[in-house]
Amino acid sequence: MGSGNVSLVEPPLTGPSRAASNDWRRSLSEATRDPKQLLSRLGLAALGTRLSAPEMQFPLLVPESFLKRMQPEDINDPLLRQVLPLAEEADDVSGFTIDALDEAQFRKAPGLLQKYAGRALLVLTGACAVHCRYCFRRHYPYSQEPKRLDDWEPAFTALEQDETIHEVLLSGGDPLMLTDERLTAVVRRLESIPHLRRLRWHTRLPIVLPDRVTFEWLDLLTSTRLTPIVVVHANHPRELVADCALALRQLTQSGVMTLNQAVLLRGVNDSVETLVGLSERLIDLGIKPYYLHQLDRVAGTSHFEVPEETGLSLMAELRQRLPGYAVPQYVREVPGEAFKVPLEFVVPPSGGSNPA
Ligand SMILES: *Cc1c(COP(=O)(O)O)cnc(C)c1O
Ligand code: SF4
Repeated sequence: MGSGNVSLVEPPLTGPSRAASNDWRRSLSEATRDPKQLLSRLGLAALGTRLSAPEMQFPLLVPESFLKRMQPEDINDPLLRQVLPLAEEADDVSGFTIDALDEAQFRKAPGLLQKYAGRALLVLTGACAVHCRYCFRRHYPYSQEPKRLDDWEPAFTALEQDETIHEVLLSGGDPLMLTDERLTAVVRRLESIPHLRRLRWHTRLPIVLPDRVTFEWLDLLTSTRLTPIVVVHANHPRELVADCALALRQLTQSGVMTLNQAVLLRGVNDSVETLVGLSERLIDLGIKPYYLHQLDRVAGTSHFEVPEETGLSLMAELRQRLPGYAVPQYVREVPGEAFKVPLEFVVPPSGGSNPA
């Protein structure tokens, strides 16, 4: 790893000071699962009445590292809002449905989704280390997906048979919920498919459970002929501090292209200051802001929705304030479209002047 690339801002953690590689599983087992306990940890016990009834399908889950980054005594804390089940989740709002993205039709094999040319997505697990209340996969039928490594063979075979696919996305849930041993077996199997060239990891664990950035995983990323790309998921600059910032530095200093996707969320990051702060913090850590997603209209998430017009005016201000490379693409997923649809600069068919 790039030990010569010393940062003046925050020294990289190296060697023995780094957590032992299996500590992340203990951190996970110690995560908070009780909403009342979460609120009392933050000095907000009196506000328990605003909580939704315990929802067995998608219970509260918050790792300690993420909890520590929340501001005590602030019910509007942007990190807390992402994980706190509020009574509004029970609202039945028209247009917000269970399979908002209609993903069933894109299933090529158990656990394999393909919506777009040249790339396909493996749903490696339904598990996550945090439960984001706005999650578009909160109703996903994970129980129907493969569990044991052998069960993946139909998906690997489907990839083998389609030479137009050059990139595999590892997703979920969160692929880093699998052990490094498991992941190694998946990577070895994928690299045996000659037409695959890139392996993209979509994971929120470096943000919410930084212990998960193990040396074993970093080695795995860089020890395969498949070019690695890591897409993390942070929504607010205050997520990118402390142990999280150190883990991200380790990742970027290992030379892996690292991108961030965020979701535009009411009460979390729907202000110019927050979005500018998020982009600047990411760039300072060597991470390129990739997508800012318009919320998918999934049942139980309507209280997070920001109107598209608001999103567009926020984007206009981001462009005034940031270098071009620090501006994410504001996109919405439209079922049936061949790509995630950019919401800015939609040129009307007759519009646009012709440069001479
Ligand atoms: C979002 C998504 C991708 C990735 O799209 P990019 O524009 O390449 O980032 C790929 N496959 C599926 C099924 C997706 O939902
Ligand atoms: S980490 Fe990602 S997949 Fe998991 S709950 Fe959050 S948004 Fe959903």
